[in-house]
Amino acid sequence: MISEKIYPVCVIGGGSAGTMAVLRTVLNNDECLFFPGSPKHKKKSRALWVRKVENVPAHFNYKKGIEEPNAETLKWIDSSEFKNKLINKKNKGVIGVRKEGEIFHLTDTDGTSYLARFIILCTGVMDVQPEIQGSIETVFDYANAQTIDYCLICDGHHVLNKKTAVIGHDTGAAWISIMLHERYDPPALSIITNGQKSSFDADTTKLLDAYGIQVHESTVTEIIGEEKGKILKGFVLEDGVTINTDIAFVSMGMIVYNELAKQLNAELDVRGFVKTDVNGESSVPGLFVAGDLRANMRKQIYTAWDSAVSAAITINQKLRVSKRESYLKALSK
Ligand SMILES: Cc1cc2nc3c(=O)[nH]c(=O)nc-3n(C[C@H](O)[C@H](O)[C@H](O)COP(=O)(O)OP(=O)(O)OC[C@H]3O[C@@H](n4cnc5c(N)ncnc54)[C@H](O)[C@@H]3O)c2cc1C
Repeated sequence: MISEKIYPVCVIGGGSAGTMAVLRTVLNNDECLFFPGSPKHKKKSRALWVRKVENVPAHFNYKKGIEEPNAETLKWIDSSEFKNKLINKKNKGVIGVRKEGEIFHLTDTDGTSYLARFIILCTGVMDVQPEIQGSIETVFDYANAQTIDYCLICDGHHVLNKKTAVIGHDTGAAWISIMLHERYDPPALSIITNGQKSSFDADTTKLLDAYGIQVHESTVTEIIGEEKGKILKGFVLEDGVTINTDIAFVSMGMIVYNELAKQLNAELDVRGFVKTDVNGESSVPGLFVAGDLRANMRKQIYTAWDSAVSAAITINQKLRVSKRESYLKALSK
């Protein structure tokens, strides 16, 4: 099925960036076609995995720190004067996109096609999980209880006065542990590479030694904990060593959801994030990117919001200029 209507703005992704992009677009009085993602997309998104948010004012009391305020925002739009500006394709994602002339042609997860003048792509990223006992599911209870964390800026403060382990093997993981030491000086701090060879450069290794951060390269055979992950006690390694720890941080890189940007041949950086200008416009004119997917951004809720606002405002300016020019042209005839 093809709808011939050309929507001025299409927002793809319903996490922090997508919700802010929708809010700003409708408040700008621009019609917004919105694909928050299919249940499968949502399950793989960071938005779903975030529990308690402590680094964003007034978010402390949500049990699901991104999902709940986002749902409230969409509900508010639905009750506002701007409700007709939002075309919310609930539970639908986008699987295909191409550009013909100035218009984007989109296909959703049901195979329905749509046309849009501008896109704000907010499909995000996901953290790589460690495999323990042959599965990534062994860490889920701990991740839900936040005894295993992923984001240094969001949750680094959890290590204060706690024995800490960082799971990862590259220089990024080493620097997470160095920063945790320098900021919070936890009573014990080690790196567990879970069977991978560590690949730290010489200066980093020197600093790890100076701070007494031990590196264990043996594979984790068991996580010791209680109360469905609420209490973490440590990790048993294949070489017989047990690392006693109260909290762990995973730093193993990110899976970048850049499939749609790739379909449009947008320029990516070496890690797969989409390069943009300061307003969030990619190398493909009309394709804007916000949130974790955008290159050179802190991966945070408030940066996702800021990048989404930049994109929506820039698009609104372009739409207004185009309407203004048509209006003045018609007047001069
Ligand atoms: C465990 C954890 C805890 C965190 N805690 C904090 C915190 O306390 N404070 C903080 O500031 N940051 C925190 N972060 C970071 C924060 O989650 C991200 O910065 C934020 O979610 C980025 O928003 P986003 O919209 O770019 O991506 P996401 O929130 O991941 O949203 C991506 C959206 O894209 C959708 N999607 C994907 N593919 C498609 C598709 N093809 N079509 C349609 N939709 C699609 C998904 O359904 C989802 O709605 C945390 C991250 C993790 C992993």
